[in-house]
Amino acid sequence: MFPVVSREQTTGVSELSTEVIVVGGGVIGLAVSVALAERGVEVTLVSEHRPGEASPAAAGMLAPSVERAPGPAHKFSIAARDRYPAYIEFLAERTGIKVPLNRLGILQVAFSQKGIKGLRKSALPTTRWLDAKELQHFEPALPHALGAMFNAQDGAVDNVVLLEALKKLCAGEKWIERLDGGVRSVKPAAASCTITLDSGTQLTAASVVIAAGAWAAKISGARLAKHVKPARGQLVSYSSTPLRHVAYGPSGYIVPRGSITIAGSTMENVRFDTTTTASGVKKVRAAAEEICPVLASSTTTEAWAGLRPVTPDLLPMIGPDPKHPSLIYACGHSRNGVLMAPLTGDLIADLVTESPLSHDLSQFRPDRF
Ligand SMILES: Cc1cc2nc3c(=O)[nH]c(=O)nc-3n(C[C@H](O)[C@H](O)[C@H](O)COP(=O)(O)OP(=O)(O)OC[C@H]3O[C@@H](n4cnc5c(N)ncnc54)[C@H](O)[C@@H]3O)c2cc1C
Repeated sequence: MFPVVSREQTTGVSELSTEVIVVGGGVIGLAVSVALAERGVEVTLVSEHRPGEASPAAAGMLAPSVERAPGPAHKFSIAARDRYPAYIEFLAERTGIKVPLNRLGILQVAFSQKGIKGLRKSALPTTRWLDAKELQHFEPALPHALGAMFNAQDGAVDNVVLLEALKKLCAGEKWIERLDGGVRSVKPAAASCTITLDSGTQLTAASVVIAAGAWAAKISGARLAKHVKPARGQLVSYSSTPLRHVAYGPSGYIVPRGSITIAGSTMENVRFDTTTTASGVKKVRAAAEEICPVLASSTTTEAWAGLRPVTPDLLPMIGPDPKHPSLIYACGHSRNGVLMAPLTGDLIADLVTESPLSHDLSQFRPDRF
């Protein structure tokens, strides 16, 4: 039986420091904390900065039609994307920060007959093929393209502003206490779970949520997180925005964000190395300039790298450890953590408060590997 952690039941239970401890303050840990607080659950959010955190590094695409998940996870990803407009409104109401959201649709651009064939073969019922003339109308800066698959409703969110809004909300939220510190270990018991910080401090809650991104496997006692590995992604930014739409090419993507364009990305297994490399940046630039050649005459303003928390099937772990239900996983969101953060928060809050789940989580079971 999953532990019930309503305020009434835990009030006065002196050994509990709080109702829920969330480990990790990236987009997942923040969204989980906010969702729990919205249900009146008392949260202690424990986090410590790590170089290469994925959430600020990400491109912010909401691309379930392109980064396609298998089986019911695809439906989940679409729902995650469609959760965003209301989420952005909610954040604006609560923080005064309007997070930029681009829902103009995503273009998958073709430059060869083989490319056209591939895109048409994998088309979803919701996608529409644009021939070269139509595409020119959509995006005049793609004159060399033969056409594009148009994924309406997909787009991008400015994940940097999203983090700012989530942090502001957490800071002003009476149910959330923030603690700056690294978590060394976690020890689940029958109806509670204890964490030990690097400082030696121990905290106990009815439930602990592991949202530690690519570092989840380093937390001793979080036994199922061993399958989460870091995958480095390098990105660059350009000082102009020739496109309005997010566009994928054969080897990368570009994302307009305010007055700049973000281009990505590599997917490298280099453990926790967060440096950028000349070859990685070159590859990303080549992919971006293949999509939109006019970018070649624009200045690249920055290059950076982040560590995606990757699982073997690239799907997240969302749910309790079946052997120790007081230990819950919300990690391993791989390439789509920004997309899935608000819905992951909702689902963890459903689990903790024993509310009916809006989605079947069996594909995301933490013990599936
Ligand atoms: C280059 C790149 C491009 C991407 N593009 C997209 C995209 O377009 N769309 C999309 O949806 N997703 C994208 N992603 C993926 C997305 O960024 C991640 O899936 C998501 O940010 C993961 O969030 P997280 O909170 O789990 O991890 P993180 O953001 O890494 O946060 C984890 C936090 O936990 C903290 N922490 C770790 N260990 C401990 C500990 N022991 N104690 C205390 N704190 C700890 C870390 O310091 C960090 O603050 C991209 C990722 C990268 C790297």
